[in-house]
Amino acid sequence: FLFLIGIGSIAVLIPMSYFLAGKSLQPIKETFEDQKKFIANASHELRTPLTVIQTNVEVLKLKEEEQIKDNMKWLNNIGSESETMAKLISDLLILAQAENQSLSIEKELFDLSSLCEQIVVLMTELANEKEIELSANIGPAIQYRGDEEKLKQAIRILVDNAIKYTPEGGKVQLCLVQGKRNIAIEVKDTGVGLTEEEKAKVFSRFYRVDDARNRETGGVGLGLNIADYVVKKHGGKIKIESVPNMGSTFSIILPRANLKSETKKNNNQMD
Ligand code: ADP
Repeated sequence: FLFLIGIGSIAVLIPMSYFLAGKSLQPIKETFEDQKKFIANASHELRTPLTVIQTNVEVLKLKEEEQIKDNMKWLNNIGSESETMAKLISDLLILAQAENQSLSIEKELFDLSSLCEQIVVLMTELANEKEIELSANIGPAIQYRGDEEKLKQAIRILVDNAIKYTPEGGKVQLCLVQGKRNIAIEVKDTGVGLTEEEKAKVFSRFYRVDDARNRETGGVGLGLNIADYVVKKHGGKIKIESVPNMGSTFSIILPRANLKSETKKNNNQMD
């Protein structure tokens, strides 16, 4: 059965990867290598959670109805693995929409500070699992006009990466900083860091610094490409500061033009 799922995933992923890489300007050989890596990573990423889900369903089937309440851990496993798959599928959908220019960006007013707070709450469990101290320095409400769901996805990708690429016991901090012309959402970590050469490549689709090392962390090299795309659609950019083995700061810089009105300055200042 698993073999059939494997074949099925590959049958879906091969045409999808061709489609996604269709407009790439990379040399053909490089693109083909990227696609092979992508198919391997994406198949693995979809198959692993699916296997966990199936095993958990089998365990639950053997239980008496009243025992199910006592076996919430199996249901929780199913929930979190389905979430992993849903995340990858939503990343692929955003990319497919970006590729055929049908990705729409909503322009609605929302509070950027409470969005950042929500993300910290959402990611706390993941950080706890790795004994990473996740903290925030967010400040008062900032009314921003943009696509809340897509910006949430972009910020989540940066925090998720900061946790993934920081060894156990490290620190990750999310800061919201207001400047004269821009607002910055900074994600700082004490993780593995990046060289100048790696920094230049991380936004490329399917790029992963060290595939062997990264295999343990999961991911297919699409997150930063999506985050970059979403932030650019808001007229912003993502800046990276990093020192190998010391840590990185990924900052989403958004123009203040999208603010409802000049929000009062607070302690979090920048240029
Ligand atoms: P993924 O995490 O799925 O591999 P991304 O596009 O999000 O894909 O990131 C691309 C690569 O950039 C990662 O594989 C990793 O090697 C590197 N990277 C991203 N964020 C960080 C970080 N905070 N610290 C160190 N390396 C990072």
